[in-house]
Amino acid sequence: MPGTTSSDIDSLKVIVIGAGIGGLVLAQILHSTPGIQLSCYERYKAIDDRVVGFRVMLSGTTLSMLKRKIKSDIWADLAFGIGEQPEGGEKIEFFKGNGNKMLTWDSDPTKDQYSVSRWHLREALVKEASFVRTGISFERYEVLPNGRVRAFFSDGSTDECDLLVGADGTNSNVRKQLLNHATIKDLGMVVIYFKVPLTERSLKLLGSPANSTHTFCPNNQYIMLAPWQNPLAPFSTRYTQHTIDPEDSYIMLGAGSPHANFHNRRCSPNELTQSELQAEVLARTSQPGIHARFRELAEMVCLDTAYVNIVRKSEAVHPWTSSPNITLLGDAVFNMSNTLSRGANCAIMDAAALADRITSPEYRRERHQPAALDDYVRGNIERREVERQRSAMMQKIMFSGQNKLRGFIRNKALPSSLKKIDSLDREEHEGVNWIGSDGEGSVDSTGEEPKWVEELKWDEIFEGRHGHEKG
Ligand SMILES: Cc1cc2nc3c(=O)[nH]c(=O)nc-3n(C[C@H](O)[C@H](O)[C@H](O)COP(=O)(O)OP(=O)(O)OC[C@H]3O[C@@H](n4cnc5c(N)ncnc54)[C@H](O)[C@@H]3O)c2cc1C
Repeated sequence: MPGTTSSDIDSLKVIVIGAGIGGLVLAQILHSTPGIQLSCYERYKAIDDRVVGFRVMLSGTTLSMLKRKIKSDIWADLAFGIGEQPEGGEKIEFFKGNGNKMLTWDSDPTKDQYSVSRWHLREALVKEASFVRTGISFERYEVLPNGRVRAFFSDGSTDECDLLVGADGTNSNVRKQLLNHATIKDLGMVVIYFKVPLTERSLKLLGSPANSTHTFCPNNQYIMLAPWQNPLAPFSTRYTQHTIDPEDSYIMLGAGSPHANFHNRRCSPNELTQSELQAEVLARTSQPGIHARFRELAEMVCLDTAYVNIVRKSEAVHPWTSSPNITLLGDAVFNMSNTLSRGANCAIMDAAALADRITSPEYRRERHQPAALDDYVRGNIERREVERQRSAMMQKIMFSGQNKLRGFIRNKALPSSLKKIDSLDREEHEGVNWIGSDGEGSVDSTGEEPKWVEELKWDEIFEGRHGHEKG
């Protein structure tokens, strides 16, 4: 190609903005690819935020893909954070506030989910991550006459690259410049999260042994309970009223509500103190008609684990085609409601698809052409649109109890609404034939686990990390 030098072909400098799930997965894959020089910039000093304390649901497809793409020692660390899966796969049980069960959602996509500790995931991905530069916030970029991109940072420094990847989340500065029309809306819904230590007592309060539950409450509120159970230490032992060890088993308690229906509206929900957040959840769970087990769980929360998610929606974008040297991945493209747990799955899939493209010999030949990343961009947006639609349908279910009539209609339509969400699912669930389809505790005739589950070798990993503590 005219204008291409041998150094263009030999070395490619990539800058990734943001060390979240998507940015770190991309960086880890590219880091081990010969001919790629990589830097990843993260605005925070510690690659941490409060949500890191919680779990993230990842599908078997996402996990097997990660296993194939990242180095085996990183996978081994990460795999250690995959929580105990209930027999027959994950299920979501729906309840009314009074504790009466409505139905169990146990479709193939639901069962093919794994509860993964975000903390383990993050720890694994930052391991040997000398390429991450923390405490440096990206501000803007400039495309240079030679086609390279110069990135400008808040500390006054700059860095140049052949490809700039914005993996900087929902409020992405890279997207603001690349697609300056894209908007973000506050939807007025807020979810308060806490961790509850998983003990023999709290397990009994789940309403269902080891499954996630969604409970519809009055005032368009809901309570979500979801356990993360360390396979080798099923009950929590290292916790106080304030904190819990990141390796300890826990229940994630999520309490969703329109902000307008908060008992305490003295300030924005993310400015409420931890005690005020607990008091808010206690007030909701003390209402008449709410089963007493919810209040008991709310009394058991570890205060310092409080995390407030103000639900924001970034406008979906059209494929951007004119910038072969600047691209986006993950929530920076556009986000989706987390009620269906698909955002991190998408970010990981984006990272793998982009890495595939960047490391292909075709990309090295075509990277100066305007359409060099078009297929990646189109695939990314298509995947996100599907998952965003499915997530929006789930969000509508969770927040459609504005009054008794609407709640009644929502409850009646629940089975068909969930079926619609499933019918739009596009993932292949390679593990479906090992999961029982006729209720809890059943295993199908093959009794086989997906190959990657067999290969986890929990005991070896645990011994490697905690040999002295074991047995
Ligand atoms: C409470 C909650 C529960 C969820 N549960 C699930 C789930 O179970 N399953 C699932 O699939 N998804 C879930 N999601 C969604 C998922 O967490 C996100 O979709 C996913 O983290 C997006 O990854 P990302 O890498 O694109 O962005 P992020 O994880 O947001 O990472 C962006 C990174 O960029 C950094 N950054 C931002 N601006 C700059 C800047 N200017 N300069 C440098 N760095 C910058 C940020 O500090 C951050 O580290 C959940 C989300 C929430 C809030």
